[in-house]
Amino acid sequence: MTCEHCETISGKKESATLYSDDKLIAFLSPQPATIGHIIIAPKAHLPIMEALDDKTVEHIFKVANKISIALFESIKCEGTNLIVQNGTAAGQEAPHFSVNVIARRGGDGFVFDWAPKQLSEEEMATLELQLREELSKAPEKKPEPELKEEKQAEKKEEGKVEGKEAEEKKEEDENYLVKQLKRMP
Ligand SMILES: [Zn+2]
Repeated sequence: MTCEHCETISGKKESATLYSDDKLIAFLSPQPATIGHIIIAPKAHLPIMEALDDKTVEHIFKVANKISIALFESIKCEGTNLIVQNGTAAGQEAPHFSVNVIARRGGDGFVFDWAPKQLSEEEMATLELQLREELSKAPEKKPEPELKEEKQAEKKEEGKVEGKEAEEKKEEDENYLVKQLKRMP
């Protein structure tokens, strides 16, 4: 199956890219829900958030926040929705995790509504129990995903950037992102 996000990442599919680094890409949705719909996708073709390492998840949401702020500032939207497409049942066209930042205005016609389900007291209690039980399990250390040799090397490279240098690099990355966002029309 062809993956639209992977095609965008590889450049096979043209896109209005706002930001890109080694972990993720952010681009204007080619099928926007409103004026100001940005898709943020990890560069790795992974269907669910669970498959991403915590640092990447954190990075994706930091970028989502910056893009949301940029929408407020640049096109003066009144709100934003962050829609996470996590798994194929969550509306993914291809199994590639993404976060959608959607600019909102009163009366924009974007429908984001559902009819509340009627759950019995028992159903609610069971659900609560199931979730509490799951959440109370000792935080498992995620098994290190088996890295391919290439990635192992990458990891070692990353490991070299430490201390002050790492801080500087982080700042550099952030400045780059701000610069990129400032270039938004
Ligand atoms: Zn993909």
